[in-house]
Amino acid sequence: MKNNFDIAKLCAGEENLSTEASRDPAFIRRAVEIADLNGVRMALYHNTRDAELAALPVAAKMTPEQKAIVIDKAVAWLSQNAGPRTLPEPPDAELRMMTEMAVGGPMGDLEYKSRNDLHAFKEFPLAARWEGEKPELPADFRVAIIGSGFSGLATAVQMELLGIPYVVIERRGEPGGTWTINRYPDVRVDTPSNTYEFLFEKNYKWREHFGRGEQVREYLTYISKKYGAFDKTRFNTDLKRATFDEGRGRWVLEVEGPDGTDTLEANFVITGTGTFANPRFPNFENQAAFKGTIVHPNRWPEDLDLTGKRVAVIGNGSTGVQLLSSVAAKAAHVTVFQRTPQWIAPREKYGVPVEDELAWLLDNFPGYWNWARFMGFAGLFETHNMVLTDPEWQASGGMVNPGNDKLRAFLTDYIKTQTNGREDLIAKLVPDYAPFSRRPVVDNGWYRALTRDNVELVTEGIARLTEKGIQTADGKVHELDIIITATGFDIVKYLAPAEIIGKGGVNLHESWETADGPRAYLGMMVPDFPNLFMLYGPNSQPVSGGTHVPVWYIVWAAYAARCMMRTLQEGKTSVAVKRESYQRYNDALDKEALKLVLMSAQGGMERNYYVNQRHNRLQVNAPWYSPDFHRMCTEIEWGELQIA
Ligand code: NAP
Repeated sequence: MKNNFDIAKLCAGEENLSTEASRDPAFIRRAVEIADLNGVRMALYHNTRDAELAALPVAAKMTPEQKAIVIDKAVAWLSQNAGPRTLPEPPDAELRMMTEMAVGGPMGDLEYKSRNDLHAFKEFPLAARWEGEKPELPADFRVAIIGSGFSGLATAVQMELLGIPYVVIERRGEPGGTWTINRYPDVRVDTPSNTYEFLFEKNYKWREHFGRGEQVREYLTYISKKYGAFDKTRFNTDLKRATFDEGRGRWVLEVEGPDGTDTLEANFVITGTGTFANPRFPNFENQAAFKGTIVHPNRWPEDLDLTGKRVAVIGNGSTGVQLLSSVAAKAAHVTVFQRTPQWIAPREKYGVPVEDELAWLLDNFPGYWNWARFMGFAGLFETHNMVLTDPEWQASGGMVNPGNDKLRAFLTDYIKTQTNGREDLIAKLVPDYAPFSRRPVVDNGWYRALTRDNVELVTEGIARLTEKGIQTADGKVHELDIIITATGFDIVKYLAPAEIIGKGGVNLHESWETADGPRAYLGMMVPDFPNLFMLYGPNSQPVSGGTHVPVWYIVWAAYAARCMMRTLQEGKTSVAVKRESYQRYNDALDKEALKLVLMSAQGGMERNYYVNQRHNRLQVNAPWYSPDFHRMCTEIEWGELQIA
């Protein structure tokens, strides 16, 4: 099948690859020593099929002598063979053998199927492709993609691959979604960049191991332009209302753009409007009286000068934790208001630039990029057990399960060392609920910042604002110039403020509200809303690992595409989930959710944004074992859908 862009040309355009076949051996050695040893071992095996490498265990179990063998062999091989080549994907049986070698043991079929694309040897892993002839599309057939963040772009690339016309509606003036909005100090990804990227874009040159927000924005604009979405995007255009016209099986979209309101039509609507699109602004008593400045990180003013100011940071989620060190380095004094302690974990190479040697290795060690990124995911493969309560373990005196309790001990020690053993801080900082109950938070020097002379941690509740600052429940007034409200997002407002009207005039938000909050089938489909797919919709974020969301965006976009393709191939106009399937799926989902630590007494559910507080149910996550969820989203149960 011919794509409407030439991938061979695109790949040939990936210049920047060093052409040096050999380098100073000391440089090569440094490169190999910095690199991920599992990635080195696997890439070297892939190139050489050296049986001695196959017999070695994974890096964590290697003796120093075994590590030295891998490094020496890699240095010797690279000295002769380094160069900017890519490797073809091995035949499946061999790839499986190598994948099992990489993780140090056998893998079930279910697990392997959910992982065999993560090495990204294929051009477009996980994407849907036409099998046989592409059917002729009805006249005017097109898809509307709402949003040009990660999920909107994944969908656009999927449409490009299928040669299906589409338009992207983007509220902002550039691609990038949340990464264009959040511009607060030190904003960056908190999962390694080589796992927080699209599988189809090979060896993108990340400047840091955890890319800064600015580079993620650049990346998404680059993707949008390279794969053809940019020119099909209506920027500065906001979806106001989408109404399904039953008679014609088409969506009518009312949008507001630079030239006023407009109406356009699409056969399918795929939304990538983001979970973190609607900031949650606090509404403290007497808030308007405060004479200083209140800033939500989501609306960070470019010219905000913190120098010499008395600043409050409210909130210690991923945002508040990420920005504190940088704020404290500038402000005269910072008061951190913590309502609930968080488990905050360190990450290796967080904030560290990609070393020159590693950049060279990525370009000149064929297969290393693939295997290193695969190993970046592999560490998460076993995390599902960590999120389940283990009744036997609990009966024997444990708190949650062995892995979770071990992590709790590790993180508790981490708090103690980072705060230099300060008992006053430790008492306030150690949570009384289990790790993995909330979205993990990554430390950006937050604990260390709390030990600074100009930083104070306040756990007394906020009673009200006054002209001069924040008054806590003990009556004390904390005088301030600036209040940073890192208070999170209104998670349950999926697709808001756009109004979505389905069959029979049903309003999506009203129907959710009159039931028990937002729900969907596989996080994507709702019965009265044919030809509508939500990416990152209700209950879609996998509760445990294996892969990060950019991989899932591709999976979900491919699911929507397959549904569309089948509808077209059958000469029909609409596809929707059957009501009973939606109900059955959600009943099973609610039952599965109860196994999770975050929904248990150990989970401290109160005020956890993963949970819909109003309806007391899991809201953000898909509770499934990740390979199961992958199967559900890739092996479509056609019987659950109605194509008409
Ligand atoms: P969040 O996790 O919802 O945290 C909000 C914080 O504000 C919590 O500490 C909360 O306290 C506190 N808070 C809210 N209302 C308050 C009030 N009225 N009074 C006092 N405290 C209040 O929000 P977030 O930090 O913006 O993170 C949201 C998500 O965005 C993250 O989980 C992550 O998925 C994503 N994110 C990612 C990155 C990244 O590095 N990739 C960075 C930032 C954000 P309670 O805990 O008591 O409710």
